[in-house]
Amino acid sequence: MKGKILETEHVTVSFDGFKALNDLNFSMDVGELRVVIGPNGAGKTTFLDAITGKVQPTQGRVLFKGRNLRRLPEDEISRLGIGRKFQTPRVYLNLTVRENLDLACTRHKNVFATLFERPSSSDRRRVVGLLETVGLEVKADFPAALLSHGEKQRLEIGMLVAQSPDLLLIDEPVAGLTDEETENVGNLLLALAESHSILVIEHDMEFVRQIARKVTVLHEGSVLCEGTIEEVQNDPRVIEVYLGEPLETSLP
Ligand code: ADP
Ligand code: MG
Repeated sequence: MKGKILETEHVTVSFDGFKALNDLNFSMDVGELRVVIGPNGAGKTTFLDAITGKVQPTQGRVLFKGRNLRRLPEDEISRLGIGRKFQTPRVYLNLTVRENLDLACTRHKNVFATLFERPSSSDRRRVVGLLETVGLEVKADFPAALLSHGEKQRLEIGMLVAQSPDLLLIDEPVAGLTDEETENVGNLLLALAESHSILVIEHDMEFVRQIARKVTVLHEGSVLCEGTIEEVQNDPRVIEVYLGEPLETSLP
């Protein structure tokens, strides 16, 4: 048995009495690639905030590899092996792609050591491997400012992977990307899924179809249903909660 990488038990997060998460029960296996969808305001971002310690559950608990994360600060949760990618890329625009990855590989060292000392040969090999994984070898020595939005997203995913997390949390990675860039990010996540557990939040249904195995639908802070993309798309409850959503985020 592979075991669970992440579980939430009866997690409620209240903001002044409003329950952004409401008795949320969720679990995913080690090695799974899970996609979480849901209409705006369903609680998707709050769900990630509750996992990473950015907000504390009012009730219930979050378990990472069986360990209760209650009251742990964000940086400690991150050190335990949970890496989070926010929606907008947070790369250093005036550093090159390679320097960004160097920095991410050596977060524990200080910035000056990373920039002015020669990286060790194992760090260099690791950066070369990451450049290949994210498909940015030819742009390795370009300042990150010259990358397209999709390339920046891939660079930031590479920077996240550089810290060797066991669980990657990725919030809406393809918002605002072209179709081609969307497919590139999808292929990258599929490749990373071979060696990581990944939880992706996404609105773009074309992208969800490209990468999803099991999909969880959130609605009003709880799990509405789970299944394959075909199962959830045909579920009348899902169709109902998506009615009234803007056209581009609606289920077809
Ligand atoms: P999603 O990411 O699915 O669109 P969110 O998790 O961002 O949804 O928000 C869920 C609900 O909780 C929304 O109604 C939002 O307005 C509310 N909410 C989120 N964060 C806060 C906060 N810090 N204070 C008050 N309400 C919040
Ligand atoms: Mg959100």
